[in-house]
Amino acid sequence: MDATIAVLAGDGVGQEIVPQAVKLLQAVGERFHHRFEFVAGDVGGQAIDKVGVPLPPETLALATRSDAVLLGAVGGPKWEGFEYGRRPERALLGLREQLGLFANLRPARLYPMLADASTLKREVIEGIDLLVVRELTGGIYFGKPKGIKKIAGGEKGVNTEVYTTEEIRRIAKVAFEAARKRRRRVTSVDKANVLESSELWRRVVIEVHKGYQDVELSHMYVDNCAMQLIRNPRQFDVLVTTNMFGDILSDEAAMLTGSIGMLPSASLGTHAGLYEPIHGSAPDIAGKNMANPIATIASAAMMLAYTFHLDKEAEAVEHAILQTLEQGYRTKDIHSPGARLVGTSEMGDVILKNFQQG
Ligand code: NAD
Repeated sequence: MDATIAVLAGDGVGQEIVPQAVKLLQAVGERFHHRFEFVAGDVGGQAIDKVGVPLPPETLALATRSDAVLLGAVGGPKWEGFEYGRRPERALLGLREQLGLFANLRPARLYPMLADASTLKREVIEGIDLLVVRELTGGIYFGKPKGIKKIAGGEKGVNTEVYTTEEIRRIAKVAFEAARKRRRRVTSVDKANVLESSELWRRVVIEVHKGYQDVELSHMYVDNCAMQLIRNPRQFDVLVTTNMFGDILSDEAAMLTGSIGMLPSASLGTHAGLYEPIHGSAPDIAGKNMANPIATIASAAMMLAYTFHLDKEAEAVEHAILQTLEQGYRTKDIHSPGARLVGTSEMGDVILKNFQQG
C-alpha cells in the first residue's frame, strides 16, 4: 500500500512522542512492504510562533490531501493569554471541522502488569478491553437554540440536544464496523426513557443493526452505564453514544486503566482519519525526555487498523508494546519499584526493537 501521512507534532511533549510513533510506522512499512510518505506540518503554538496562526492553510491543505493525520498535542502556558481565535487549541477545532471528524474512538485496555496503577481493585479491572465510540459533531454541544437570555427576574440558559437520522446512522455504522474488528458486541448508550432525541437514537441504531446481524446489539441507559463501567467493566466490548454522554463516559473508561500516557484515540470522518494520544502537551515534563510515548504509538496502531485496514500490522505494533511492558520497561508515569525506568526515546527504541524482532 502507498499512503501519505501528515505528521503534526505540535507543542510540548508532542515534539518528543510523535517521532517515536513515526519510527514504528517506518518499520511497519519496511517489514510489511508498504510505502508510507511522512509529511511534517506546523500546528498549535509552534505554528503561531512561526507564521502567526495555529492552523496555517498549508497544514490544513496537507491534512486534507493526506490519507491520515498523526497529531501530537497543542497548547502550553506561553500561548494561554492569546485571544480565543488565536489559541493553539483552535487548530483542533479547525481540523475536526475540515476533516468532518464525526466519530471519536477511544479504546480502554488494561495491560495486566499495570493493574496496580488503577484506582480500582485488580479483580474488577483485570481483562478490560473496551472501545468507546463517541459522536463528535452533533448533539447538545452544537444544537440550536442555544445561549443565555435575560428574562423577568433573571436569566435563562438554553442548550438543545439534536440528532438527525443520518447523524445517528453514520456513527452506528462506525460502531458496528469497529465491533467486527473486535468481539462483535455493541452496547448503545442513551436516555430513551426521558429524551425524545434518544428515542430516535435507539430506533435508528436498531435499524442500522439489521445490516450487521453478526454483531450482538444491546441498549443501556447512560446512568446505568456509568455505574456498570465501575462495577463490571469487562462486560463491554464497543460502547456507542452521543457527544455529551461519550465525553463523560470516555473519560470514566480511560481512568479505569491508569495513566493518561497510555491512551490512544482515533477520530474518523468524511476525509482522512486523525490519530492522537488523549493527553495534552504536558508542559511540566516537556523537553525532559520523560513523556510516555505509548499512547502515541498505540494511536499509530489504530491508524493502521482503522484507516488502512492493516489489522495484522496493527496487532504486531500492539504486541511489541505489550512485550516491552512485560520486559519491565517503564517511563516515569507508570514506574513502580523494581521496574526499569527509561526515557521517551529509549521506550520508543525498545518497542521498535521488539517489533523488528517480532
Ligand atoms: P496534559 O494532558 O498535558 O497533562 C496532564 C498531566 O498528565 C501532567 O501532569 C502531565 O505531565 C501528564 N502527562 C500527559 N501526557 C503524558 C505522557 N505522555 N507521559 C507522561 N505524563 C503525561 O493536560 P494539561 O496539563 O491540562 O494541559 C496542558 C496543555 O495541553 C494545555 O495547553 C491544554 O490546553 C493542552 N491540551 C491539548 C490537548 C490536545 O492537543 N489534544 C488535549 C488536552 C490538553
